[in-house]
Amino acid sequence: MSEDVFKKIVSHCKEYGFVFQSSEIYDGLSAVYDYGQMGVELKNNIKKYWWDSMVLLHENVVGIDSAIFMHPTIWKASGHVDAFNDPLIDNKDSKKRYRADVLVEDYLAKIDEKIDKEVEKAAKRFGDSFDEAMFRQTNPRVLENKKKRDEVHERFAKALNDNNLEELRQIIVDCEIVDPISGTRNWTDVRQFNLMFSTEMGSTADGAMKVYLRPETAQGIFVNFLNVQKTGRMKIPFGIAQIGKAFRNEIVARQFVFRMREFEQMEMQFFVRPGEELDWFEKWKETRMRWHKALGFGDHKYRFHDHDKLAHYANAATDVEFEMPFGFKEVEGIHSRTDFDLSSHEKFSGKKIQYFDPELNKSYVPYVVETSIGVDRMFLSIMSAAYCEEELDGGESRVVLKLPAALAPIKLGVLPLVKKDGLPEKAREIIDQLKFDFKCQYDEKDSIGKRYRRQDAIGTPYCVTVDHQTLEDNTVTIRYRDTMEQERVAIDKLSDIISDKVSMKNLLKTI
Ligand code: ATP
Repeated sequence: MSEDVFKKIVSHCKEYGFVFQSSEIYDGLSAVYDYGQMGVELKNNIKKYWWDSMVLLHENVVGIDSAIFMHPTIWKASGHVDAFNDPLIDNKDSKKRYRADVLVEDYLAKIDEKIDKEVEKAAKRFGDSFDEAMFRQTNPRVLENKKKRDEVHERFAKALNDNNLEELRQIIVDCEIVDPISGTRNWTDVRQFNLMFSTEMGSTADGAMKVYLRPETAQGIFVNFLNVQKTGRMKIPFGIAQIGKAFRNEIVARQFVFRMREFEQMEMQFFVRPGEELDWFEKWKETRMRWHKALGFGDHKYRFHDHDKLAHYANAATDVEFEMPFGFKEVEGIHSRTDFDLSSHEKFSGKKIQYFDPELNKSYVPYVVETSIGVDRMFLSIMSAAYCEEELDGGESRVVLKLPAALAPIKLGVLPLVKKDGLPEKAREIIDQLKFDFKCQYDEKDSIGKRYRRQDAIGTPYCVTVDHQTLEDNTVTIRYRDTMEQERVAIDKLSDIISDKVSMKNLLKTI
């Protein structure tokens, strides 16, 4: 996959009503997007898949919906006011701003790519007798690149952990990293930049209070820990899940819905006994990976990536990465956050936030394992994996979104063959029967072939065509999106055929 495919996906999202640039008629607002009539359905289905997998499938996980505005001291306690920074660097020629860490990460990824290409070339040359492991261990070009990569990586990880901005800049200089736009190495110093948006609350000039737009939903869960634990009579281990908007003033925001300034998170904080957090961390890693893989896009598209730099609150952290058109990228973070947040809120609020464990007969501040996934990044990963261009017999081609049926915005297209002879009325009758089970769309415009293409392009798994025979024997032609096969079935069988395949329940059962 390539950048080229990525561009096609972005324009497909616009053309078919999935994603629009925010404020488009005013030339847009950078890194803010709106979801259209198809996008919102897909997004809602993703959220439902996540929510149900958390709160339906786990007896000890409950949900909340906390406010975006919170007391400003929360962000002091969480460390965000002091430490929620990204290192930024400007190129003096292009006047473009970059994240210094991302420039180095991209450089490292390029070396990896070089190594992989070398291996691929050799695999072709040697055919069946190729021993990849041996080649990686002995080929001089591979070894040289790997040595270079490991050296830079080590320096980079140390610079991040020491918060050494000068060294970070030196790595960029030493690796001769150039600005992709100006092509020059004319870099400024690296500076820290806080990502939180702030605004004012209160109407009187002297009484206004500076408040932040939350940069993560997690803090809303922490500050409600006791409320939920007590009112829900929850016993540790248990989790609290939440879906909601988060805001970050991202430095570089050029990758469509991958990096937005306003986005949506699905987070679950799982509270455990101190000392048991790393076992739970492993359990949640596995559970979350199964959730991703159950979508059926292919296991090779996912991998874990452990963090080089642990956040100020974590004692273990990994990302679930997905193969986007622009490489493997983080979709979800899984973090063992220790008791950092709850202890810190105890300190700053002066209120005790502890749990009495009846089995241990003592009180403690629970430890936390968090799973945190961006709805929008998940949306993009699904669009990228589902987008296919297919050559058909007779020189034709089609664009089809091979979405998992349970996530598809529309489940069934209902198409009268012609706009007369009572066929439209019959088609509407079918929709009136089925609309209680799943989302149907009526379409009578253009040829049947064109209508199939339109449904393919939005990922509709089933279409039925209503023709003159339908009026006689109550049968329709059903057409399957992926195989394009067609067969004649009775109208009263449609609900059975389709409901099973599009049901969220059946998808959840495969996790
Ligand atoms: P990155 O390193 O890419 O900036 P992060 O490690 O800061 O991401 P987390 O703080 O772990 O991200 O947030 C959890 C999840 O929220 C991410 O895995 C991602 O899916 C989502 N997310 C974070 N920032 C954004 C953003 N600007 N736009 C869209 N989704 C985001």
